[in-house]
Amino acid sequence: MMPVPPPRASAAEREALHGELAALCAIRSPSGHERACADHVARVLRGLGLTVDEDDAGARIGGDAGNLLCRIPGTAAGDPTGQAVLLCAHLDTVPVAAEIRPVRDEQWWTDGLGGVLGADNKATVAALLVLAARLVREPIPLTVELLLTVQEEPQLQGAQAFDPRRLQASCGYVIDHPSPLGGIVVGAPGHVRFDARFHGRPAHAGIAPEDGRSAILAAARAVAALPHGRLDGGATVNVGQIAGGVDPEPGPVPAAPVTNVVPAHARVIGEVRGPDRDTLQATVDAVEAILHDAAHDPLGPVDLDLTLETRFQPYRHRASTLPVRHATAALERLGLTPRPFADGGASDANVLNAAGLPTVNLAGGNERAHQPGERISVAALEATLDLLLALVDEHVRTAEAGSATVADAAAPAGAADALGGGSAAPRPSG
Ligand SMILES: [Zn+2]
Repeated sequence: MMPVPPPRASAAEREALHGELAALCAIRSPSGHERACADHVARVLRGLGLTVDEDDAGARIGGDAGNLLCRIPGTAAGDPTGQAVLLCAHLDTVPVAAEIRPVRDEQWWTDGLGGVLGADNKATVAALLVLAARLVREPIPLTVELLLTVQEEPQLQGAQAFDPRRLQASCGYVIDHPSPLGGIVVGAPGHVRFDARFHGRPAHAGIAPEDGRSAILAAARAVAALPHGRLDGGATVNVGQIAGGVDPEPGPVPAAPVTNVVPAHARVIGEVRGPDRDTLQATVDAVEAILHDAAHDPLGPVDLDLTLETRFQPYRHRASTLPVRHATAALERLGLTPRPFADGGASDANVLNAAGLPTVNLAGGNERAHQPGERISVAALEATLDLLLALVDEHVRTAEAGSATVADAAAPAGAADALGGGSAAPRPSG
């Protein structure tokens, strides 16, 4: 059966989209400094007659703006919880060195000064603003909630500070993956950071080395014994920083480092990611055991202070989960090939799923994310708007058909599923 053609953006909407992208990208909004960008977005939405609520996340996590929530009410009365869909993007960008001058040629949007354009994630923000205008002009039965988060790049902090109880939506879409349109991130790992501080005993290295307990040696044992990289089962382990010496808080290596003292302090900082809670926990347990074994080696035992911090939880959806089904259908109706995959990076979808809202992260088509020369094609930007229109339409049609399944819960990560588990390159953020 041929899929029903989806609604498409008009020529005027495409022009509005390009204008919004240029306006948004020209506003610098590195994480924690989203004020001007948030004001612009709120002004556009309020100009449409919509209500925009900003939470106090900025004050709580040390930024100058909070998360924006804008609800576009549907025309259908009745159960609001079963009739709302969440669309989410982030307002912040990675740090930018200079002003940004968005330029468009026949094929691409880039920063004319060669920096990071900020299409991650402003291409989606621009598309959401144009979508909002359409939904105000042509109301639909469904309530659509727009969540614009701050401080996504530094460990999803804005989304983590957002109160998900404010949402009516029963499922959500984040459009924030830097891969070609069609990608559906159905699984993303959880992330635990470890900070291992080894404390030994100082002694003169030449006169009485027997009295010393080298923390650096213990740390080296640990690093050598830890697994690194991708493990069987899909977890990853990385040691990101080591330091050590006579100083409890070793700084940069001095011009004349102390070598005649057995070093009493060393620190190993790293992370574990796991595709599901069980694998993540098992890998963290293994890392913890190795760190303890390295510290308590009978040949030179030292003390260990270990801090484990869960940064975010993993998620993994079955192909039958509502947002996966609807994203797949919307992409097919657009003539795009849906590509469900599990990713190695994180997005606001991790936080929303952990809050019980089944959410997928969709590809937005931007390229070279976080790098100078970041770009998005004119075609991908316009396709993102079409994808949003098709997604919303898919929900409306399903609701009208009376077959909406709103009881889908986020699949417990690690549950058996039929989806391919291929992993994409990890993103520098998240
Ligand atoms: Zn992003």
